[in-house]
Amino acid sequence: MTDAVMPTYARIPLAFERGEGAYLYATDGRRYLDFAAGIAVNALGHAHPHVVEALTSQARKLWHVSNLYEIPEARRLAERLCAHSFADSVFFCNSGTEAVEGVIKLARKYHHHNGHPERTRIITFSGAFHGRSWTALSAANNPKHLEGFGPVSGGFDQVAFGNLNELRAAIGGETAAILVEPIQGEGGIRAGSADFLRGLRAVCDEFGLLLLFDEIQCGMGRTGKLFAHEWAGIVPDAMAVAKGLGGGFPLGAFMASEAAAAGMTAGTHGSTYGGNPLGTTVGNAVLDVLLEDGFLEAVVRKAARLRQKLEDLTVRFPAILEEVRGQGLMLGLKCAVPNIELASRLRDAGLLVVPAAENVVRILPPLVVEDAQIDEAVGLIERTCARWAEAA
Ligand SMILES: *Cc1c(COP(=O)(O)O)cnc(C)c1O
Repeated sequence: MTDAVMPTYARIPLAFERGEGAYLYATDGRRYLDFAAGIAVNALGHAHPHVVEALTSQARKLWHVSNLYEIPEARRLAERLCAHSFADSVFFCNSGTEAVEGVIKLARKYHHHNGHPERTRIITFSGAFHGRSWTALSAANNPKHLEGFGPVSGGFDQVAFGNLNELRAAIGGETAAILVEPIQGEGGIRAGSADFLRGLRAVCDEFGLLLLFDEIQCGMGRTGKLFAHEWAGIVPDAMAVAKGLGGGFPLGAFMASEAAAAGMTAGTHGSTYGGNPLGTTVGNAVLDVLLEDGFLEAVVRKAARLRQKLEDLTVRFPAILEEVRGQGLMLGLKCAVPNIELASRLRDAGLLVVPAAENVVRILPPLVVEDAQIDEAVGLIERTCARWAEAA
């Protein structure tokens, strides 16, 4: 019989009925330590009491009114995001892909608004992932995702991630912007160095380009700063966020400086659901926790603990684990064995992780993870590696 859900995913035959913090409970009653966090979405883990309370009390009042009217919850979330970033305004949508689409449109509109309608091309990087819409796939130019879908949409030029010389050579009179993930997620937890990100800022300033960051995976506290680019001490002109922003509620946004958003006037962009009262109430509740005194500092401290222990494992099991990559609680284990097989063995041991490109296994615990849970996860990885090494 045909699967009633279109079979576009290679699903693991496992379903969950309940989650609590960093734990997930499967329908067969088995408990898993969730270091996948819905692919960096469940920033506050599962069923966080503050977020549950915000969602349920808003659900009894008002869900959706459309953007024909003022939405105070959205305004408040936008003001708070701006107060804690480079941005002066925010557009809300429902997913990461839409947020990426937004920054691309914003960049083109910016140049049009400033008398350069010919500047429409966007430079992107190898290994990128920006979502699954037609434009986002064309931007990332990953042959695996484009196969069978015909010619890519024009307007993108791709260069090697981390290579500023190649980047400069790709700039022409039609270049509008540079779009980049400060830390590539799907691409295999490849972090752009601080020098590379500063270089991008300098190039954009020199050529009058907009710097567009895709912080859909690395933003919202994941690296121990609210936004990953803060570590490099530079700011973009516009940025796409999603994933952790709603903590599991589908919520995306793009944020921009006043100058970059100058062309985004009434009627230029829209969304039916984007920024609705229910979604933005949840977003505000997530932000309440992320902005609590000491929360991000705790992420940095816990991340250092996790990283050190993972580094130790790479030394003890070099035939299985090659290196630790990434920043904060966005870590990658580059594997010497097939990453899918390691992920599967870890799952059997009770630990959920996410495979990525370059034979990497992503370690993405919820930001509320506790030291004891980090130790438990590392213990499970250690035992799995030890058994594997013994058998080999
Ligand atoms: C997940 C992701 C996207 C796409 O987000 P969706 O919500 O799946 O549309 C885009 N860019 C990056 C960096 C991501 O990690």
